[in-house]
Amino acid sequence: VSPIRCAYHETRDALYYCGRCGRAICPDCVVKTAAGNLCRRCVEAPPRARRAPHLWLWVAAGILLFLLLFGVLPRILR
Ligand SMILES: [Zn+2]
Ligand SMILES: [Zn+2]
Repeated sequence: VSPIRCAYHETRDALYYCGRCGRAICPDCVVKTAAGNLCRRCVEAPPRARRAPHLWLWVAAGILLFLLLFGVLPRILR
């Protein structure tokens, strides 16, 4: 019976499974967290998918620019 190898070390036996990606990992690669046993790569990776938080910032900046150009400037120029 060949033991399962660590996904990151080809020569080491895996004793754990990552709770996120499911990779077999050795004791040196396992990181025990409140969410369970995770591999190092999953711990280092951002927990959530990347979003675009700057989108609303750009929309707000665009509205402000619009108001500035078409709302405020004509009053100043008159
Ligand atoms: Zn993982
Ligand atoms: Zn390992």
